[in-house]
Amino acid sequence: IRILAYESSCDETSTAVIKNGREIESLVVATQIKSHQRFGGVVPEVASRHHIEVITQITKEALSEAKVTWNDIDAIAVTYGPGLVGALLIGVSAAKAASMATGIPLIGVDHIMGHIMAAQLEDEIEYPALALQVSGGHTELVLMHDPINFEIIGDTRDDAAGEAYDKIGRVLGVNYPAGKTIDTWAHQGNDTFNFPRAMLEDDDYDFSFSGLKSAFINTCHHADQIGEKLDKYDLAASFQAAVVDVLSHKTIRAIKEFKPKTFVLGGGVAANRGLRERLEAEIGKLDNKPKVIIPPMKLCGDNAAMIGAAAYNLYKAGKFSGLDLNADPSLELPYADAILDR
Ligand code: ATP
Ligand code: MG
Ligand code: FE
Repeated sequence: IRILAYESSCDETSTAVIKNGREIESLVVATQIKSHQRFGGVVPEVASRHHIEVITQITKEALSEAKVTWNDIDAIAVTYGPGLVGALLIGVSAAKAASMATGIPLIGVDHIMGHIMAAQLEDEIEYPALALQVSGGHTELVLMHDPINFEIIGDTRDDAAGEAYDKIGRVLGVNYPAGKTIDTWAHQGNDTFNFPRAMLEDDDYDFSFSGLKSAFINTCHHADQIGEKLDKYDLAASFQAAVVDVLSHKTIRAIKEFKPKTFVLGGGVAANRGLRERLEAEIGKLDNKPKVIIPPMKLCGDNAAMIGAAAYNLYKAGKFSGLDLNADPSLELPYADAILDR
């Protein structure tokens, strides 16, 4: 089964050809980061315009890099949410047009299911599995009953982890997106500030990062007022230590309770070296270790390969979309409602 996949939910336009849900035959990512940096974040109108400019070209590139034609494609997959509505619509329209012109079936994919399925491109996921999904807009612990039925067991009450990185990065004068730079600085400093670790002792799986963000910003502003210069490496190390502490603590507790066969890390923040190392070390100490799959760096950020991987599972389950597929900017994973019943 060969799937052509589209991703355009935010500031990356991407296409890919994925064979049997595991093998990347081609992956093209056109990033717009440079266009948004001077605004300090993603500007929706600018994002849509860039998507429209490149999407036809990168569709051709994905096919030619994979050395295939439309005749070799069994399904067309596209992210239909969550994300920026105007950005999503470009991918959804392109995919629907291609499906209509060729008669190849269409599969709408949840962007977050895609992030989690980046792991499937690296290794085989055995179920039940547990995912820690950490990105610019999401911070969730997700129980995966099978390849398409997911249940959110923990969520952020306020900021997502990546969002917190970007906001404190702005205070330190780091360009958007700030995560990678803060991660690098963190490895050159020490946790000297001891910022708060929110909800660490609570017996649920929820997260909160806005208190940490405020503590960080207040510390910087206070130092500014009294003319004190703080070490940016120690600030970064202290912030990262707090984030990683909370994420790994709750993940380990969820692994102990739910005993998944596989643990997967997903989302842009999965590229964080501190988080990757800490989770591997902590899981390594457990008696009943799940298999750990951490996607390679290039599959952590937004890309169409992960959408093709998730679409393969939907294809096998017979979950296709009609040509009435629409962008859904606030799409939530299936079974998200189950959190309310816990
Ligand atoms: P979502 O996937 O929740 O809809 P998004 O698509 O905007 O949001 P991603 O593109 O998956 O998010 O991830 C981008 C985020 O990852 C940014 O907030 C960025 O700062 C963060 N990030 C990237 N690399 C790192 C890193 N090494 N350490 C921490 N954060 C990182
Ligand atoms: Mg992005
Ligand atoms: Fe994303």
